[in-house]
Order: sequence, then C-alpha cells, then structure tokens
Amino acid sequence: MSCLLCGQSIKKDLTFRSLLLLKNKENNVCVDCLSGFEKISEEHCPNCMKTGVSTKCQDCQYWCKEGIRADHHAIFIYNQAMKDFFSRYKFNGDYLLRKVFASYLSEEFRKYKDYQFVVIPLSSERYYKRGFNQVIGLVEAAGYSYKDILGKREEKASSSKNRLERLATKLPFFIKNDVSIPKKILLIDDIYTTGSTANRIKRMLEAAGTEDVKTFSLAR
Ligand SMILES: [Zn+2]
Ligand SMILES: [Zn+2]
Repeated sequence: MSCLLCGQSIKKDLTFRSLLLLKNKENNVCVDCLSGFEKISEEHCPNCMKTGVSTKCQDCQYWCKEGIRADHHAIFIYNQAMKDFFSRYKFNGDYLLRKVFASYLSEEFRKYKDYQFVVIPLSSERYYKRGFNQVIGLVEAAGYSYKDILGKREEKASSSKNRLERLATKLPFFIKNDVSIPKKILLIDDIYTTGSTANRIKRMLEAAGTEDVKTFSLAR
C-alpha cells in the first residue's frame, strides 16, 4: 500500500528503527512522514500536557480560578508537520486522511473504557461547507463511536478574535434536547490550544450532571 501523506509505497520493512517507530502496528503512513510528527514529551503540565513546563501552566491556573480543573490528554505536539496535516485534512477536505493516526488513537482510546465519547461539533454551516466533521472522522477511523449530544450555533470565527475576546464570548455550544447525559465523558477535539472550548464545554456538561469529564485531543 502507499503512504496516505506522500504516496510512496510502504514497504514491509522490519528494521529495528521501523519496529520502534511503528510498534508493529498497521500503519497508513511511511516512516519518513511519521518522523515529522513529535509526541508530547514526559515534561509537561500535569493538567493539560502543555510542554515546556512541569507544573500547572498559566492556562490551567486560569481555568482553576474559573472553577474548572483541566484534565486533558493529547498525543502529539502541534508542530509544522501537524499543521500541514490539518491543513490538508480540514481545509482541503481530504477525508482519507482521517486514517493517518487511527492506530495511535485506538491505542489511546482503549484507556477510557468506562467513558462515553463525545465529539466537539461544528456549526451546521461549517459542516455543510467541509462535508464532514474532522473529529468524528478521527474517532470513527480509530474504530470507535460517539454520543451525539452536543450542537453548535454559528458564530464569528474564533481565529479572528484575540485571546481575551475568545475567553469572554458566550459559549456557542449547547446540549441537545431529550438526550441522556452520560456519567463519564471523554470530550474529544482535534487540537487543544488554550483549552477555552474544551474546558467550557466540560463545565457545561458537569453542570448538566456528568460526574467526570476528561478532555482529549490529537494535538496540543
Ligand atoms: Zn509518506
Ligand atoms: Zn496546563
């Protein structure tokens, strides 16, 4: 088969290096492309996995003051290779790329056995433009399903707002009518930056009766 990212054929190569990198997993990406992605190192914020700090980071301190205890897990650093990946996957709409990290995600998701998965939704306008929700794509490619309990209203794109504006905006997400609220939720997004979206939805779900909400993203 050929690499989903560069198209070169993936040889069944059993060198020591490839076994280390791939951990013997079924992979859709060649070793060269994989080597561009960087896993989050051991030294990181204990609450949100931000790298470069080893104690609770500023963002998490902010959430703490807001009454939210960030409990986030991510796999990869949002580096250039990851930016390129998301620009092809999300903005060029290359839906096949949902499979690139499937084996990494299914390995992580296995750790959340008692949790119901909930995906951060797109507004319907955004959904129709892109044709798919990129997070649902990642979850389903990893072989998991999710509970469809959240919706999103259309709003000004968050990238055109500064950090304070983003923090101050009214949450555009809501819990759908007539859904049962799970006791334990793993709230999944593609990228975690300040944690504004994930942590505010976490607070909303906790207010609605969820006892334990952990958050998760592919990149951080
Ligand atoms: Zn490749
Ligand atoms: Zn943190």
